[in-house]
Amino acid sequence: MNAPFDASDFAQFSDETTTVADLKRLVVRFAEERDWGRFHTPKNLAASAAIEAAELLERFQWLTPEESLAVKDDPEALNAVAEEIADVASYLFNLCDKLGVDFASAFAAKTRKNAEKYPAALFRGVYGADDPAYKNAKKQSRDEKRR
Ligand SMILES: [Mg+2]
Repeated sequence: MNAPFDASDFAQFSDETTTVADLKRLVVRFAEERDWGRFHTPKNLAASAAIEAAELLERFQWLTPEESLAVKDDPEALNAVAEEIADVASYLFNLCDKLGVDFASAFAAKTRKNAEKYPAALFRGVYGADDPAYKNAKKQSRDEKRR
């Protein structure tokens, strides 16, 4: 087991310099120091990620769409949201470690699958298959293929 964390362990993390592997190591080490690995079954980690996602949603629960956008200009509210994002990610990275999932390749593969499922030509500017504009775009695409 590694030495316990000290403040310097956390000082140099940023999106530009930190790898997914660094984040996985951080959360695994955090759990090892507390002997929490025994509680980290895939079921418990998946449930915990969902619970933390609900806590993230709670931060926006009663806000109007405009108020939710304004969170980025409120340092205290933004920090609370960032903490919940980190909680969700922490459980997801723990789950990846537990199951041997390579997060980056899974993320890329799923994004590619979504790109195939939601072609930009059909889904640009529509929120999904239930959007009335989608049906129009799909019909227009079919009509263009017939010509
Ligand atoms: Mg939380």
